[in-house]
Amino acid sequence: MANLETFRRETRDWLVANAPTFAYTPVDNPDKLCWGGRKWPFKDPGEKQWLEIMAERGWTAPSWPSAYGGGGLDKEESRVLSREMSDLGLRPAVVGFGLTMIGPLLLQEGSEELKREHLPRIIRGQVRWCQGYSEPGSGSDLASLQTRAVVDGDDFVVNGQKVWTSYADECDWMFCLVRTDPSAPKHTGISFILFDMETPGVSVRPIKLISGASPFCETFLEDVRVPRRNLVSQLGDGWRLAKALLGHERTMIAGMGGDRSRGDSLVDRARRYLDAPKGPLPDAVLRDTIAKLEIDRKAFDLTMQRSRDGMKAGHKPGPETSFFKLYGTELNQRRLSLMVQIAAQQGLGWEGAGFEAAELQTTRDWLRSRGNTIEGGTSEVQLNVIAKRVLGLPD
Ligand SMILES: Cc1cc2nc3c(=O)[nH]c(=O)nc-3n(C[C@H](O)[C@H](O)[C@H](O)COP(=O)(O)OP(=O)(O)OC[C@H]3O[C@@H](n4cnc5c(N)ncnc54)[C@H](O)[C@@H]3O)c2cc1C
Repeated sequence: MANLETFRRETRDWLVANAPTFAYTPVDNPDKLCWGGRKWPFKDPGEKQWLEIMAERGWTAPSWPSAYGGGGLDKEESRVLSREMSDLGLRPAVVGFGLTMIGPLLLQEGSEELKREHLPRIIRGQVRWCQGYSEPGSGSDLASLQTRAVVDGDDFVVNGQKVWTSYADECDWMFCLVRTDPSAPKHTGISFILFDMETPGVSVRPIKLISGASPFCETFLEDVRVPRRNLVSQLGDGWRLAKALLGHERTMIAGMGGDRSRGDSLVDRARRYLDAPKGPLPDAVLRDTIAKLEIDRKAFDLTMQRSRDGMKAGHKPGPETSFFKLYGTELNQRRLSLMVQIAAQQGLGWEGAGFEAAELQTTRDWLRSRGNTIEGGTSEVQLNVIAKRVLGLPD
């Protein structure tokens, strides 16, 4: 314990001494965090400086082994670092699918060569990754995917189409599911490969949403040559890897329902819009609804924390991640709907005068949260997984 206290003090001193002013800028939107990669337009010299300082110390991936450039911290130390950063109001130096999805998978399943090639670049924020799973006819029934990869010498030749590829137009590398054996049963004919998005034959077309934003793309793959050494694990092992990675993804998406929600607390918001700065909130029904939601959130946070500690101690994510994904995303939707309800008509602004910036952001967050119960596998699919793999119910 004394050692941990020393670590805490040293960590805090180091952060205070090294964090540039920019690192203290509050984050009101995850899109404004640094996602890194070759195309990342640094908005401020401090953003780049913060990334370099943290990456140098391995603290962009604190619990990854130092052999690959990670921080090499144990789970208690990682938790201390994250607590100190949060107490000081420091933003993460870099975020992305590299750190939350493909990196953890490579640590578990990647060859030494793949780990040495990719992990340091993820830690330094030099490569931004996208996920090539869904296809036009294969979303929930992902195992029916049709993108083909045919072995030709030292390469795979890949042909097919992916869809809903988040930020494919801004990413540098894709982790991708391909069918390598069309004659095998659908789950066993799939392999998991990695490729650079600048490889000839890869093209992306952003999908424009009604809001004007393009958070995802169609990705077309035409005779794309991918070196065979970019295969993760064995031929035909892709489905097992896809599920392992989905475990990391679901835990990440579930986390959006937890303590990291941004902006006002529900109580602060209710006080402001009900003009009740002190004492019990005058609306008893609202009081009750907020209390229920806060209790659910606290219980969920603690359960997630237990699971994260387990993972840091080496447990692989299991089917319980489906429960987290289902509950966390539904909880986030409940919270954001209540935020909008509390603000009444002020909660429905999309743009323009008459609304505060925070109000506009909450409306957008509320609409964005609808997608959380779809991406990474829909709520209905999570219920199926829980029924079969957690509760053991018959088909
Ligand atoms: C914001 C966002 C970001 C995304 N990012 C990515 C990405 O980066 N990469 C990527 O590969 N994909 C991404 N996706 C795609 C996502 O994984 C799919 O949308 C999702 O798996 C559902 O597939 P689908 O859209 O084809 O719907 P479908 O599979 O067609 O499902 C339609 C409806 O039928 C229901 N349904 C289907 N099968 C069953 C069943 N067996 N039992 C009960 N109900 C069922 C579903 O729950 C859903 O309500 C993203 C999606 C969103 C919304």
